[in-house]
Amino acid sequence: MEKEVSKFKSVFERITGKVSPEYITCKACSRRALKDVWERNLSICPTCGKYRPMTAHSRLRAIFDEGTMKEFNQDMITTDKIDFPGYEAKVKQLEKKTGINESAVTAEGRINGIHVVAVVLDTRFFMGSMSSVVGEKVTRAVEFADIHRLPLIIFSASGGARMQEGIYSLMQMAKTSAAVEEFSEHGGLYISYLTHPTTGGVTASFATLGDITLAEPGALIGFAGPRVIEQTIGQKLPKGFQRSEYLLKHGFIDKIVPREQMKQTLYDVLKLHVDSRFTRRMDAI
Ligand SMILES: [Zn+2]
Repeated sequence: MEKEVSKFKSVFERITGKVSPEYITCKACSRRALKDVWERNLSICPTCGKYRPMTAHSRLRAIFDEGTMKEFNQDMITTDKIDFPGYEAKVKQLEKKTGINESAVTAEGRINGIHVVAVVLDTRFFMGSMSSVVGEKVTRAVEFADIHRLPLIIFSASGGARMQEGIYSLMQMAKTSAAVEEFSEHGGLYISYLTHPTTGGVTASFATLGDITLAEPGALIGFAGPRVIEQTIGQKLPKGFQRSEYLLKHGFIDKIVPREQMKQTLYDVLKLHVDSRFTRRMDAI
């Protein structure tokens, strides 16, 4: 863990009174650190250890061996299917702000030499919600892994279905689940990696269909949020309900993996399950 936290105000801050765009302030401890320090630290606060959400590309850079990542289907365009007021403008605004054009990023690459397909949901884009394009990208990634007989890793983080796409969003639950089922029938290995927060339609489809389910510490994982459940059943929920640690205790997930151990843990799981003779033949990338 790095400890490069600045205690001094930059010239930018003294003049504008705002935090310099070079810095990110931790929401938990209010200390700030340079953006590239956060990036090298896997978006873990160098002062207090609190996690910030990782962007999809940071996550992929952190797990793939240098120079092996190849993104695919990044040109799929999200359209306003049901004329939802303001949807198109919001998509454009988020594209500009985040530099990505959907919440799902799909790529192939290698983890310590093992060729895999990975999908990451990015919460900066509509809280990682499932649009038609997200469902299609996830499905195509599963099918790509199936055709090339590669292991599949999906990092979920989602507020659920994309309400601005109505029924088209809900249809993605069945589509992605069917693709995962077919992949599974063909003997494919699917590691589902749950990060904060994984909720709604994503939890109710591909996120909970993994052969092995890993989760980040303290992640909220559930279908409806705790407040909605409490209001519905009229009871107080147990402490830590829907957090990774509670779900591990109740057998819903297999292991909680601190972010620093993410790549090594994935490699350990892959080593156990992937036929090394087969991965040696896959030298296409
Ligand atoms: Zn902090």
